[in-house]
Amino acid sequence: MGTLYLVATPIGNLEDISPRGLRILSEVRLIAAEDTRHTRQLLTHFEIHTPLTSYYEHNKLKKLDTVLAALSLGDVALVSDAGTPAINDPGYELVLAALQANHCVSPIPGPSAPIAALSASGLPSESFLYLGYLPRKTAERKRLFEKIENHPYTLIFLESPHRLTGSLRDMQVFLGDRQVAVARELTKIHEEILRGTISRVLAHFAALEPRGEFVLVVEGKRGEESPLRWQPDEMLSQIRRLQAQGRSSSDISAELAEKSGWTRREIYRLILDGNQPGQS
Ligand code: SAM
Repeated sequence: MGTLYLVATPIGNLEDISPRGLRILSEVRLIAAEDTRHTRQLLTHFEIHTPLTSYYEHNKLKKLDTVLAALSLGDVALVSDAGTPAINDPGYELVLAALQANHCVSPIPGPSAPIAALSASGLPSESFLYLGYLPRKTAERKRLFEKIENHPYTLIFLESPHRLTGSLRDMQVFLGDRQVAVARELTKIHEEILRGTISRVLAHFAALEPRGEFVLVVEGKRGEESPLRWQPDEMLSQIRRLQAQGRSSSDISAELAEKSGWTRREIYRLILDGNQPGQS
């Protein structure tokens, strides 16, 4: 019985592949790849000469027998164009078929765009809901948002550049002006992570058309007890820090409302009340 290795590959920066991933790719008898031309470039870069076969969305069922036959003779690696196989990439059916045929299935962890985006988002990351690509049409997005609007955990979506602002606008309407992190071109030269409210991110993209690959991380529904809301002491010390820089009360309220879980009004009132938390 062979082992099916799910090898994560870079989402931009070639240095992100692990030494173990490279060793497995050079040792297996066959690599099943989403796009053989794309993977050939990666293998050429690392001087790996393992045979490749294609395994992509439209042949993934037809190809099962080929990959299972190779597994009965030895180990096989599955790779996608970028990131972790089977995460919004072909792989699930093959994993299932390999398990049913009593082969081992083993992950070789590494890059994954949604996890990379979450980790740097600045939003709570201990519990999250990953939903892959957002639906293309507003009516379907609305249905999805209605289902998840009260979900307290951080949400992660993939989105294409030309639908990004439309999706953010729908999100603002159906989920409210939540905190988001829009992660663009992670690990690449033009990597950028925009953090702030949806309206702030939309204002950014009003002036600049979205380009590249995106992951959208969105805060979950806040409850009264949400850990996102700063404690009064923390709020006071941040207010004093900004006052010491000579910032105006409205400026301070706007800036801190973006990250504290407090509304501008609450912060402004606290400032007017002379920074006494009991009176806010
Ligand atoms: N399996 C992959 C993974 O684990 O990262 C995800 C595959 S999915 C088909 C590709 C989508 O992931 C892109 O359309 C984009 O939304 C996101 N993505 C991939 N690379 C990215 C990057 N470098 N920066 C931001 N988002 C990226």
